[in-house]
Amino acid sequence: MITVDNLHKHFGGFHAVDGASLTIEAGSITGLIGPNGAGKTTLFNVIAGVLDPTSGRVTMEGEDITGLPPHELFHKGLLRTFQIAHEFGSMTCRENLMMVPGDQAGERLWDTWFGRKRIAEQERALRAKADEVMEFLTIEHIADERAAQVSGGQKKLLELGRTMMVDAKIVFLDEVGAGVNRTLLYTIADAIKRLNEERGYTFVVIEHDMDFIERLCDPVICMAEGKVLAEGTLSEIKANEHVIEAYLGT
Ligand code: ADP
Repeated sequence: MITVDNLHKHFGGFHAVDGASLTIEAGSITGLIGPNGAGKTTLFNVIAGVLDPTSGRVTMEGEDITGLPPHELFHKGLLRTFQIAHEFGSMTCRENLMMVPGDQAGERLWDTWFGRKRIAEQERALRAKADEVMEFLTIEHIADERAAQVSGGQKKLLELGRTMMVDAKIVFLDEVGAGVNRTLLYTIADAIKRLNEERGYTFVVIEHDMDFIERLCDPVICMAEGKVLAEGTLSEIKANEHVIEAYLGT
């Protein structure tokens, strides 16, 4: 689905990503691990179009997507989850989901003159879709709560839910488990697994929680100092001497 070829991202003289090459297989849930500062988030941001690479190439299904902006990648089905922005906290969880698909009829001026009926129909369809997404994620009970007021784990599920409002092919998740209690962490893991198995999503997951990685990810890619150190199952990675050295060195 994705190939990253000799990718570099420099901040001044500092090489945050320093010649990383990897492939993400369609249909996989790939884990990305590595010590703090390894370059994982920077790599994510370059692939997802948030940062321009210094050099190197990223392809998606054979097409060169290097440096494309996030909204173009979004239309190709490549999504990176983002925290619910502060300004959307006062909207309800359902409204946060309904906002996601762009190009809504109501956004175009002439529709307000000629298409009231069509807008109402689209809103009904979006609402039904948002409700279906919340049911899938078992968070339908928070539909009418303000996004700012739900728990950290529920927010993570809502972020995942936003990727379900459009036809995502590959979703990049950055530390979904951070600060989330065990029960909700397993709910999130289960939702990711079901999206992968039932809807064919490919996932790339940055995560520090090894239990979460073990439940979910195959293969696992380990980065250190901007490079890919090793790839394999979690047990293979844990037994790899370069990986052990990288973790002990931090
Ligand atoms: P990880 O996600 O593996 O912890 P990051 O990609 O966040 O690693 O960071 C890799 C390195 O790049 C870190 O040393 C970090 O300080 C540095 N870095 C990240 N973003 C910037 C930036 N915008 N400007 C300068 N240095 C950065």
